[in-house]
Amino acid sequence: PASHSDAFVFFGATGDLAYKQIFPALQALIRRGHPDIPIIGVARANLSLDQFRARARDSVEQHGGLDPAAFAKLAAQLQYISGDYGSEATYIQLRHTLGGAARPLHYLAIPPGMFATVVDGLARSGCARDARVIVEKPFGRDLASAQALDRTLHQSFPESAIFRIDHYLGKEPVENLLYFRFANAFLEPVWNGDYVASVQITMAERIGVTGRGQFYEEVGAIRDVVQNHMLQVMALLTMEAPTGGPPALHDKKLDVVRSMRPLIPAELVRGQFEGYRDEAGVAPDSQVETFAALRLHIDTPRWAGVPFYVRTGKRLPVTTTEVIVKLRRPPHPVFDETGAVPLNYFRFRLSPDVLLSLGASVKKPGEAMIGEPVELIARRHTGDDMMPYERLLGDALRGDALLFASDECVEAAWRVVEPVLGNVTPVSGYRPDSWGPAAARQIVADEDGWHNPVTQEATE
Ligand code: NAP
Repeated sequence: PASHSDAFVFFGATGDLAYKQIFPALQALIRRGHPDIPIIGVARANLSLDQFRARARDSVEQHGGLDPAAFAKLAAQLQYISGDYGSEATYIQLRHTLGGAARPLHYLAIPPGMFATVVDGLARSGCARDARVIVEKPFGRDLASAQALDRTLHQSFPESAIFRIDHYLGKEPVENLLYFRFANAFLEPVWNGDYVASVQITMAERIGVTGRGQFYEEVGAIRDVVQNHMLQVMALLTMEAPTGGPPALHDKKLDVVRSMRPLIPAELVRGQFEGYRDEAGVAPDSQVETFAALRLHIDTPRWAGVPFYVRTGKRLPVTTTEVIVKLRRPPHPVFDETGAVPLNYFRFRLSPDVLLSLGASVKKPGEAMIGEPVELIARRHTGDDMMPYERLLGDALRGDALLFASDECVEAAWRVVEPVLGNVTPVSGYRPDSWGPAAARQIVADEDGWHNPVTQEATE
């Protein structure tokens, strides 16, 4: 079994990610009784240890709340190294501060342009030996840059020591989806193109780019969420059953991502919300998409002939991720119904809450044999759930790779989206708080339109 890391080092200790996520996650892990290990922050700013602790305290007060007992322990474990990532002295000091630690975990919470410098510094100072490393998305911006990043990491770390965070899925929705798929005998027989007519996945956000226009200009919706989050959801929904732990899960996910047909511009509609070009850092003639609707295909016996409709956007009416798996109609009508008989479907809401439902038809009370739709719903409130970073940091410290992305899977996903990166199709404007440009309908021309999720939030 993998051993627990005996020190935690985070580069980018004064950055935004550390402030919003890492300090709160560390406090939460300590509250749950995680082992005491040195926690070492590294950044350029010339802070005293007390100033660094004050920043940690602000961070937990702002994000999740101060737990005095847990924070006291965290503060006692904290250390701070001020140094430039390009300077050898920084790593010599780190080696010294690590003391007897033999299996440190290094978190690269830094701009991707700094990865190579830091990985190199860790290797040359001996800090990479028997260590693990966490990297954050973006994992490249296309296939070639993703491969270059993997080469950099592999020069100093074996793949089994690299933990690529795709925090979006956290753990609860992923485990729920996996569990539901493979623990229920009724699902497997219908989980294929004989019974499934189509699948729709919508990942909607109400917010826009919230001051991060400059960042978003380099990315757009396809790079930001389709290549990673949405293809991951699709893979979990469609992969074959893994047997025998995390390596098998990664293998099966990889198989299905490799079977996804590369996208083509004819099956893509790109949109941009009105007002995006007025955001700070955004070009007045920007063609970057804040919305994308796509049709995908999986070339396996199980999924032959089943269209997958994927849609994401910013400034949409709700914030949610929802999947609808529509089943085919019964082969022969038994009841003489006029009008559309509701289809059977499975609905999975992955966020903000977890919900599973089965859409069915029941007879309407009365003389006629006429149906009406009902939903059998299982709702899982995630109110007391762990924060994604708390789970992911805990997993990485224990060496549990289940929820992290592998090099091959990241590269396979880039192969799927590569043909539609950039301005391959025109970008259509859409009104904020709408479901995107009208042109997105053409993607689902064979369907009765897009399924637009409704959440509590929308009706409040
Ligand atoms: P950030 O706020 O810009 O922080 C960058 C950190 O790196 C700062 O602590 C900075 O320290 C340090 N740094 C940069 N250059 C340095 C150098 N030459 N020498 C020493 N220290 C240096 O970035 P961030 O938003 O936290 O993002 C970090 C990573 O997480 C990025 O890869 C990003 O894509 C990813 N990410 C961030 C978020 C988020 O919510 N912010 C979400 C998902 C992924 P000084 O200030 O002391 O110079």
